[in-house]
Amino acid sequence: MSLDTAFAELTSLVQRAHTLGTVGELLGWDEQVNLPSGAAEQRAAQHAALAEAVHAAASERRIGELLVELQKPDGALSVDQQAVVAQARKDFDRATKLPAEFVREKAAQGSRGYHAWAKAKANDDFASYAPVLEKNLEFAKREAAYLGWGGREYDYMLDKHDPGLTAAAVDRLFGELKRELVPLVREITASPTAARAKTAAGKLRGFPVEGQRTFLREVTEKIGFDYGRGRIDVSLHPFCSGTGSDVRMTTRFKEDEPLDSLFSSIHETGHGLYEQGLPAAQLGTALGIHAGMAVHESQSRLWENQVARSRGFWRSFEPRFRALFPTQTAALNAEELYLAVNLVEPTLIRVDADEVTYNLHIILRFEMEKMLFTGELAVRDLPAAWREASREILGLEPANDRTGVLQDVHWSDGAFGYFPSYCLGNMLAAQLWYRAQELRPGLEAEFARGDFSWLLCWLREQVHAQGRRFDALELARRVTGAELSPKALVRYLRERYGALYLG
Ligand code: ZN
Repeated sequence: MSLDTAFAELTSLVQRAHTLGTVGELLGWDEQVNLPSGAAEQRAAQHAALAEAVHAAASERRIGELLVELQKPDGALSVDQQAVVAQARKDFDRATKLPAEFVREKAAQGSRGYHAWAKAKANDDFASYAPVLEKNLEFAKREAAYLGWGGREYDYMLDKHDPGLTAAAVDRLFGELKRELVPLVREITASPTAARAKTAAGKLRGFPVEGQRTFLREVTEKIGFDYGRGRIDVSLHPFCSGTGSDVRMTTRFKEDEPLDSLFSSIHETGHGLYEQGLPAAQLGTALGIHAGMAVHESQSRLWENQVARSRGFWRSFEPRFRALFPTQTAALNAEELYLAVNLVEPTLIRVDADEVTYNLHIILRFEMEKMLFTGELAVRDLPAAWREASREILGLEPANDRTGVLQDVHWSDGAFGYFPSYCLGNMLAAQLWYRAQELRPGLEAEFARGDFSWLLCWLREQVHAQGRRFDALELARRVTGAELSPKALVRYLRERYGALYLG
């Protein structure tokens, strides 16, 4: 068999497994958007049956045989083909090296973990959750060992979400960011403008959902989301799933927090644009999947923050915003509205955080996770360690665990190593932002005219069309000409928020 024939067969098997996976995503989307309340059990059975089918497709013996053929040292594969084969090997090993019994146990533990967490959070009872968290850690370590990462368990967890990342690299990046950011936040919150921004944001009340829906549809369409290949619906927590020509985003509406709906929709649109921009013919292979969660977050955050919180963006959309909500916006002048959009206010709750302090929440979680994996921190000591770190990093100490260590869902089903992507995504977004402006001076003036096409085209070429050819570190190097670092993020936050708050 020729290498090209083997490669074509491998590609079709990989894409078949991926296609089945997208059906599962669709079931998950439907569950959060449409599911009748009595259908939960039936849906769980559908999920389980499909998960088995996906696993069978991903671990098919033929894939293993083709990989042996294609990974022979004398093989003459192109660089692109090598990328596809390497990713297929990783996925195949994941599907075949974990014992079925372990996978089953872990899935059951994840589901139990979620319910234990929800209950513990409602009752502010960390002690009842601690054994679950210990078990989740143990499962994570066993999984790493099965896949050959014994001794480097936390690196494995990071690599799972962001191929190529290590704890040492993240430690260095976050250490540098923390040194810069902690004092910046203190300066901003001490500024008299902070109170004015809060007052301005507090005036945005009573925005009818219909108007909000109209506005966000116009905004997301204008920045380039293709509604012929995707849609937006309502769910409890906003998310984006699907890929290629079927991208499903969700949002939620709060009449007294119109900016929350707007910015979370723009955030999900950034994710959606990335998925819509992946090469259609290669979907599911390394050439047609995203490069990892940090890169994904760089896309959502670039549109949400650098673009949609810019003056150019508001010059373009403010007239329409006021026309749709004349009475609700009457009490704010343009500068006050812009301040409300860029409100900085430290909070204990990560998901409510502004874009400046958000990063500190992630650094805190990374520090906790890392110590849990090295054994420097025992699960039972986590609440106290969290409170202390929160005081040191955020300047706020939670009065209970519900607003402290119990606030996030991630660890309850074993998703360790995920948090850092959010902050690394912010770093990459800032680097992309400056690089884009170097290449296209006057970019913000184009935004002010309602034209976002250059930026989207550039991201399509440089990021979306690349699939998973490069990991986050390599992509940063290639596209921005610099190593991934907090420098651009700190510069951006100092420029934008310094001008507003410290000017
Ligand atoms: Zn996101």
